[in-house]
Amino acid sequence: MTSLEELPLRPELRGKSPYGAPQLAVAHQLNTNENPYPLPKSLLADLGTALAGVAAGLNRYPDRDAVALRTDLATYLTRTSGEQVVVEKVWAANGSNEVLQQLLQTFGGADRTALGFTPSYSMHPIIAGSTSTAWVDGHRRADFTIDVDAAVAQVREVRPDVVFVTSPNNPTGTAVDLDTIAALYDATDGVLVVDEAYTEFARTGTVSALSLLPGRPRLVVSRTMSKAFGMAGLRLGYLAADPAVVEAVQLVRLPYHLSSLTQAAARAALAHTDELLATVEAVKAQRDRIVAALPALGLTSVPSDANFVLFGHFGDAHAAWQALLDRGVLVRDVGLPGWLRVTAGTLEETDAFLTALGEVAPSHR
Ligand code: PMP
Repeated sequence: MTSLEELPLRPELRGKSPYGAPQLAVAHQLNTNENPYPLPKSLLADLGTALAGVAAGLNRYPDRDAVALRTDLATYLTRTSGEQVVVEKVWAANGSNEVLQQLLQTFGGADRTALGFTPSYSMHPIIAGSTSTAWVDGHRRADFTIDVDAAVAQVREVRPDVVFVTSPNNPTGTAVDLDTIAALYDATDGVLVVDEAYTEFARTGTVSALSLLPGRPRLVVSRTMSKAFGMAGLRLGYLAADPAVVEAVQLVRLPYHLSSLTQAAARAALAHTDELLATVEAVKAQRDRIVAALPALGLTSVPSDANFVLFGHFGDAHAAWQALLDRGVLVRDVGLPGWLRVTAGTLEETDAFLTALGEVAPSHR
């Protein structure tokens, strides 16, 4: 077997590990923040029709600019945010991971720097690395909130080309208020990416950064159909930004990056938006149930605006993770000492999680 060291790898990739949330076949998979609900039957029927409709044309390349899909996404954003979002302000790719990669290919790169407030989504520094963009960890308070003055000062000092704010944040669930985002925008000359993968799960009062887009051409809001829409397997992410940003990412996107099948499936799903998003309230109810149940187990959590809960404290979080796994419940060890992250699933999954946690907590707190 040839080892990686024997290959002429780019130096910055040496010693790195790939993104690797365990994909284990256990009864309760609560580790990757997916929506637990399968697609509604009515959508399955429409998906079949939509895919059959494009199948005959698969000898041709897809619409390179995905205009019909981007128009539907713009309609969704306009309808749910109250902001006027037009197709020219929307771009789509294979998951928001690809959106983020295209942004770093466009605005990061060699001799450039990205900054994100850690702990946050682990792919931000990984994609920075793979695009040769230097990475700087931004500071958070001990309760995982962002201290706006400290954050602004750090951004002014580091002068990053790309700033990431994840709101609600993964893995903590912490939402970031619009004043902080606006202040960070003013503090940077770079592109500010607000990663809103979980925004549909936000509690009342938590607002999307979409409303900040007018007049801020370096602000990008990134979204996905993987979470609230329950379409993680589809791989469809998108962004809203100034039309110039949409033009700019087209300098790096591969031609025909979004297959005809993906575009058609995403459009069929968007036609069922209300049905798909109906699961969001059920998931939020389980999230809040987990939060409410923790104190009786001698545990605590971080306030969450997402479809998951960061919970602790454990003496040895990895041992607690293993003990839960031994009981058929897979949660995420995000590498934060004392903490684990659980995805809010169905009522039954939450039952199973809380039962297992009840057994595990006394010996692992
Ligand atoms: N952003 C955040 C904060 C995430 O947690 C995830 C997925 N875990 C993504 C982006 C990427 O999601 P996708 O590529 O499925 O759109």
